[in-house]
Amino acid sequence: MRCYNINLKFKEILCSDCKMVLARYSTKYFTDLNINLLVRLHFSTHIKKGHSMEIRLVETEGWDTK
Ligand SMILES: [Zn+2]
Repeated sequence: MRCYNINLKFKEILCSDCKMVLARYSTKYFTDLNINLLVRLHFSTHIKKGHSMEIRLVETEGWDTK
C-alpha cells in the first residue's frame, strides 16, 4: 500500500446567517446536483428560516491510499 499526497477539493456549505460551516462534500464523490439535494434535505430548517446559504469551493492537501 502506498500513500499519495493529493489535492482534495471540497464544496463547503456555509450559512451566512448562522455564520457556520454546515457541511463539506468531496467533489470526488458528489456532483453539484447531489450537493444541492443534500443541502435541501439536511438543512431545510435554515432554508425555512430564510437563511442564506453559500457554497464555497475549498482545496486542501490530503493523503490518498492506493
Ligand atoms: Zn442558518
